[in-house]
Amino acid sequence: MASVKFSDPNPRATVTLHELSAVQATARRHLTFSMTLACPLKCGHCIVGAGPDQGATTMPVEVARQYASQMPQLFEYGIRMVSFTGGEPLLAKEQVRALSTAATNSGMVCGIVTAAHWATSASAAMRIINHLPGIQTWDISVDAYHEDFLSLDKVRFAYLASKRLGKRGILRFAYHEPLTDRDRQLLAFMAEFADETDVCSQRIRSVGRASNLEIVRGDREVTLSKPCVTKGLVIRYDGTMSPCCINLVEERRHPFQFGDARERPLTEIHTEYMAHSLLQMIRVIGFGDLLRWLAEIGIDEKTLGPMPEDVCDLCPQIMTNRKWADALACRAAQPENRLRIAILASRILGEHDMLQQVVRELQDHAADIEGFELAAALAAETAQTPVGAQYS
Ligand code: SF4
Ligand code: SF4
Repeated sequence: MASVKFSDPNPRATVTLHELSAVQATARRHLTFSMTLACPLKCGHCIVGAGPDQGATTMPVEVARQYASQMPQLFEYGIRMVSFTGGEPLLAKEQVRALSTAATNSGMVCGIVTAAHWATSASAAMRIINHLPGIQTWDISVDAYHEDFLSLDKVRFAYLASKRLGKRGILRFAYHEPLTDRDRQLLAFMAEFADETDVCSQRIRSVGRASNLEIVRGDREVTLSKPCVTKGLVIRYDGTMSPCCINLVEERRHPFQFGDARERPLTEIHTEYMAHSLLQMIRVIGFGDLLRWLAEIGIDEKTLGPMPEDVCDLCPQIMTNRKWADALACRAAQPENRLRIAILASRILGEHDMLQQVVRELQDHAADIEGFELAAALAAETAQTPVGAQYS
């Protein structure tokens, strides 16, 4: 079954526009729950700073049950996938079980990202996976930093058990760029027992605890037209939210705030998320216009500092500066800009919610807004598309 050798991850691999749209479409139908910052490991590259001393952060069972009760409404709204992350989400096993059972019963599929500390033997791994029948995809992390705390046997047990039980087993491999000798040894280890198509590689990022690591920057130029590729809203263990599970996942200082998830219906929050002008703008056209807007208020590239090669590294550089982020959010929310972004989201991503909402909200001022008629016509054209229909 296994290949003799796996190929090196290629961060320069290009994707077609169609592939990019398919990845971006995930955001409309996907919801992630970050269950806790607790983790038996304390990896040096952890982007959320998780560790054994973070038990107090874990999502209470009653909060998980409250979210679980909303799964039928979320399905009706268009959510089709629910993911669990952390920290180590399996330290909140009963909460994950409540949520995943409710999601699956409502017609969704669920996945979990775990370090597999629980897979102490083949039978223990089967037992845990069987305890969570609602989880179809098991993303098992493997990298040089986990190894300081966890034997690689556990990774193998967890992966093979997931396959044996008919689940989707993924090996989530975090690597350095360029690859270190240890990274190559880990690729060779995975090749002993896994299918190469089950390996999902991700470059180690300089966020959270990883910002203390000496990470070599790549020599590529940042492509500002590259869009944000968030795979959707993250509801954290404490009711706060993140717009993505990448570089803002544990960041609190950003403009994408939607209140307390414990106090509002999740469908209402998600609707606001999908209509947030600044967020949708970076999803449809990237960061080029944002840098131009910043330059117009005197924030040039010199003030911003060295340009990272990846928009997800540039994003926190801008969004965590309250003054800059407020100015950008305000400009993106101007009527003409909202309409333009909503039209692009509808045309490029096939997401019509924002267009419907913006046209509805601005119709009393239609005569004063350039492009309103075109937007209204497009909104009428897409009005017959039920929410989430393109994903059914
Ligand atoms: S990287 Fe994953 S396994 Fe390691 S400390 Fe962070 S959450 Fe735990
Ligand atoms: S661009 Fe920003 S919001 Fe989008 S995925 Fe990257 S870090 Fe998250």
